[in-house]
Amino acid sequence: MAEITGPVRVRFAPSPTGYLHIGGVRTALFNWLFARHYGGQFILRLEDTDEKRFVAGAADDIIKSMRWVGIDWDEGPDIGGPHAPYVQSERKELGIYQRYADQLLASGHAYKCFVTPEQDEALRAAWAASGERPERYRFRGPDRDWTPAQVAEAEAAGRPFTIRLKVPLDGVTSFSDLIRGGDQISIRNGDLYDLVLLKTSGMPTYHLAHLVDDHLMGVTHVIRGEEWVPSAPYHMMLYQALGWERPTFAHVPNILRQDGKGKLSKRKDDVSTNRFWERGYLPEAMFNYLALQGWSYDDKTEIMSRDEIVERFTIGRVQASPARWNPDKLKDMNGIYIRSLPAADVADLLMPYMLGAGLIADPPRPEDQSYLAQLTPLIHERLEELQEAPELLAFFFQDVQAYEPKLLIQKQMDAARTADMLRAAHAALNGVAAWTVGALEEQLRALVESLGVKPGQLFGAIRVAATGRAVAPPLFDTLAALGRERSLARVAAAAAAIE
Ligand code: GLU
Repeated sequence: MAEITGPVRVRFAPSPTGYLHIGGVRTALFNWLFARHYGGQFILRLEDTDEKRFVAGAADDIIKSMRWVGIDWDEGPDIGGPHAPYVQSERKELGIYQRYADQLLASGHAYKCFVTPEQDEALRAAWAASGERPERYRFRGPDRDWTPAQVAEAEAAGRPFTIRLKVPLDGVTSFSDLIRGGDQISIRNGDLYDLVLLKTSGMPTYHLAHLVDDHLMGVTHVIRGEEWVPSAPYHMMLYQALGWERPTFAHVPNILRQDGKGKLSKRKDDVSTNRFWERGYLPEAMFNYLALQGWSYDDKTEIMSRDEIVERFTIGRVQASPARWNPDKLKDMNGIYIRSLPAADVADLLMPYMLGAGLIADPPRPEDQSYLAQLTPLIHERLEELQEAPELLAFFFQDVQAYEPKLLIQKQMDAARTADMLRAAHAALNGVAAWTVGALEEQLRALVESLGVKPGQLFGAIRVAATGRAVAPPLFDTLAALGRERSLARVAAAAAAIE
């Protein structure tokens, strides 16, 4: 593979047609890593030329999502730069794309095409009727070889037109790709059609707009999704027609759905980036996980810091085969990152979730903050998404509504013995002088002995009494955090409930 030398400039060029999904962030991340690894620049450009698919608010979401993961840019719509504006609809207003469309018309590489959508349909139907395979249909405007007089006449008649690339009928177009091993990818020109460059509205298509912008913005490497491979030959023709040097191309593989069937889909999969911060993913975990979606350092190292990834990232280790989305793995990784934080920091991160669930009233009081700080270590180890906290901690904030005998009665016990045991526990707990983890443990272990029950039987019943559930944080810590009064009241209530 060619060595990468000289200053690199790359870009991420999303279309604001919806929320940014994590596949998009991954592509942005690879560009960003490439720029940072080689000490170059990373540009953000908004490609909003598809008026029909424009979604209000999408641009803000894209910017927020990227910033959340920790991707910054050196030039972009919100911060400007030497090639501003960085929004294509604004660039269109400046006449930038028209200028190059005109240049292509003048050099004979493009033509004004007056074919209406209805005529287009008819041409397609005629093709099929002639016995040709419909999928072999390649649009060629009947007007591609019109004389200037014919064009002038149609224009004078006010007929709307698009500007299309006049694809050569013969020959082959080739390009190489950094990720596909530098192989030449070739396609016969006869298999290409006359692509629209400028729509009747004067709005450029992606093909013209991105290419003009990449050139004017000095982009050296185009790192984009592999769905653009089929369009790449057109882009090569355009570079040649405009007399511009081609950038280097690297088409990154798709991320497949978890079952491997098809690529990750905005509609079918829960993959909007904003959903991950809602659910309590740490940006560092997301960054690490996404870096591994198609890239690896050595096929085994997984947990790496941002700086380590920047240092290690090379296109040579981006694989050509698709990555596979694995939300469980991401969740695991998030758990690892959560565990690596001090509990006090986790407590701060959990507060919004507690407020959102209504367990703590907004704004939190200092005592709410310190209580949450006391509780956090009890669940810190098992948290994989921050949003799990309210559910895990609810019983510290709300009374147990009802006791399920099935949960209270432990193995080889019955209702009567459980009630007796809980009453004995109540008495023992009542006698604990200092309500501390150590004292509670000592007292309850002694009770196991004196009652002659198994530890699991006593502790299990008390756990359910104190929390209303069978699975909860460690018992003595839980009782200590719950406090004397509430613990005693709950043990008494549970005993009464199964009598
Ligand atoms: N606007 C295109 C997209 O959202 C950009 C593709 C490219 O990176 O060139 O897919």
